Amino acid sequence: MALNNLAVAPVEPDKVRAAGIMALNGIYDEMDGVSVLRHAVTELLPNDISIVSSFGADSSVLLHMVSQVDKTLPVYFLETGKHFPETLDYVRTLESHLGLTNVRWLRPNPKDLARFDPNGDLWETDPDSCCHIRKTEPLETEIAKFGGWVTGRKRYQTKERGVLPHFELTSDDRIKVNPLAYFSDADVNAYKTQHGLPEHPLFEKGYKSIGCAPCTTIVAEGEDPRAGRWRGLNKKECGIHFDFNGAIARPGAAVEKNLFKDGAFIADPFRAWAEGDDPASVRYTHVPVKVFLEHRDVFLSNPHPLGLLVSPGDKVEDFAADLSRFASIAVSFPGFTDGRGYTSARLLTERYKYKGELRAIGDVLMDQLTLMRRCGVNAFVVTHAATRKALESGQLTTVNLFYQPIGVTEVPVGTRPFLRRAAETETA
Ligand code: SF4
Repeated sequence: MALNNLAVAPVEPDKVRAAGIMALNGIYDEMDGVSVLRHAVTELLPNDISIVSSFGADSSVLLHMVSQVDKTLPVYFLETGKHFPETLDYVRTLESHLGLTNVRWLRPNPKDLARFDPNGDLWETDPDSCCHIRKTEPLETEIAKFGGWVTGRKRYQTKERGVLPHFELTSDDRIKVNPLAYFSDADVNAYKTQHGLPEHPLFEKGYKSIGCAPCTTIVAEGEDPRAGRWRGLNKKECGIHFDFNGAIARPGAAVEKNLFKDGAFIADPFRAWAEGDDPASVRYTHVPVKVFLEHRDVFLSNPHPLGLLVSPGDKVEDFAADLSRFASIAVSFPGFTDGRGYTSARLLTERYKYKGELRAIGDVLMDQLTLMRRCGVNAFVVTHAATRKALESGQLTTVNLFYQPIGVTEVPVGTRPFLRRAAETETA
């Protein structure tokens, strides 16, 4: 594909989108849960939304609403391998009772389990990592296929959820819908009774919030229903509901979007390595090559997504064997006249076949973007105001004559991922 055929779609102003979500929250503030869900499924995100359910003590309420709105809606169940057998039975019970036709079981990657949790006891020593491998990772790939998802979270459950709106706009521009946000414990029980919904078999035994067996205990009378989850640990969420900063996503919240990727400026989940960071637990961080090599074994045992920072002078062959460990590699381009970043990028993509996110950081200017892309760079951290403006207005400079043709397959910038996948399917 000729580069000069590529265009960058104008970026929709985030403020408009955020304002739309805020307006929706205003309109639906007083509405019942089914109306919120119906609007999300049929008008806001038709065929572009799914639901994640734990099939726990309260799950029947939201799933009943789903059955009223659209029985074919994709319903994801995270089969962590650590559930009570009663929960697995309950999935089948509700599926058939409500006539749901699209319940999908998601399981952790066996390679991740073998590598990070070979004995199945990671929940004991590092529950965050256990949840990450068994819940967040399997879910993220699936959820990325949709523009939004429905959750069963409620305001009364935790202090952190106390501000939960019906509609959330996450930092990566997806919409989370929470039809039960305003439900109280009493509302949940009344709904279950009114519609004759089957109870989770463990509910009567005192389990009021039910997750994985090792991390769930019985709750005493009058105790917070979620007190039985990760009891004794400073942990309240499994991580799948976190925005990048670990908080409830809020429309209109200031999120810096300097990462230009797939034709749009997006929030950057990665940050730079900081003094005091722990190689064993750090996540979504670009680790300098020198630091990585010093603590290589620890970083390789760290189960979280990691990035690598390649600076001028770093030798790609020193870490080439570990490239698959990195979800993102940042190549530093310190100045217009310094060509070492191009060399590193070409080595990574051509010789060592790195396929993940390869981003340019530093002196990223409009005139360089085409050349960087030819070296396999597929994301750009843009801080230069004029470059940003040009990209936002759909300009992408082209260079039609190259003195050093290269073998990298050029990635069509300017298309969103789903369009690119469609284009790939068409040409396959
Ligand atoms: S809830 Fe417990 S067992 Fe389940 S994934 Fe999280 S830490 Fe692991």
